[in-house]
Amino acid sequence: MSRKVIIAGNWKMNKTAAEGKALAEELIPLVSDVTACEVVICPTFTTLTSVVEVCKGTNVKVGAQNVHWAESGAYTGEISAEMLKEAGVEYVIIGHSERRQYFGETDETVNQRAKASLAAGLKPIVCIGELLDEREGGKTEEVLEHQIREGMVGLSAVDMDNTVVAYEPVWAIGTGKTATPEMAQDTQAFIRGVVADMFGGEVAEKLRIQYGGSMKPENSGELVGQRDIDGGLIGGAALKAESFSQLIKNAVA
Ligand code: PEP
Repeated sequence: MSRKVIIAGNWKMNKTAAEGKALAEELIPLVSDVTACEVVICPTFTTLTSVVEVCKGTNVKVGAQNVHWAESGAYTGEISAEMLKEAGVEYVIIGHSERRQYFGETDETVNQRAKASLAAGLKPIVCIGELLDEREGGKTEEVLEHQIREGMVGLSAVDMDNTVVAYEPVWAIGTGKTATPEMAQDTQAFIRGVVADMFGGEVAEKLRIQYGGSMKPENSGELVGQRDIDGGLIGGAALKAESFSQLIKNAVA
């Protein structure tokens, strides 16, 4: 089973609309000949529409960084899946560790957000990952299994075809510490095994699982070269067109 590599840049709370548009304009020609990888960029909400406009007719797709599960209502500061869909967004990051750490995101709200996204025709990128003390305490698999089972409960096989999982060891995000390719591979094979147990082997084999955590041009090739690593979710290295495009090219070289 061959899975198309997917590399997504998470711009986090960086780039004004003008800066984001300029970054997308700079990136597009640098990746226009990339066919072996789906390229996604995820700007802030206020930058989405200008980036969607710039990416029209190109091979660069656009994602959001969060979504609420309700259709509308008194949820100050939130945004609905339908609103994102209308804005031309295709993907949405859900349950990033920063959302779990600073904004009280739980596996239950991850599940609600994933379901609302899928119902609106968006493709969720569901983030999971263990903390450093959980890794050091030998709890990685237990933590990840819980995040997967609770985060994906109630999804159908078709939903899973439209879902991407991002394995991001929290200790590797923005720290410069990368999981070794072997460690990431072992963990991602474990994740695929849990998905197989929940949804069957066929769904699990089709599921794309990204690695995230200090991926850069220097290590993307070796990481994405692993059997169960189907791309990356990129923070820091996605903020410059040159490093993001080089990371992509090295990943699929
Ligand atoms: C992320 O925020 O999802 C991430 C992986 O960040 P970085 O690449 O900077 O570690």
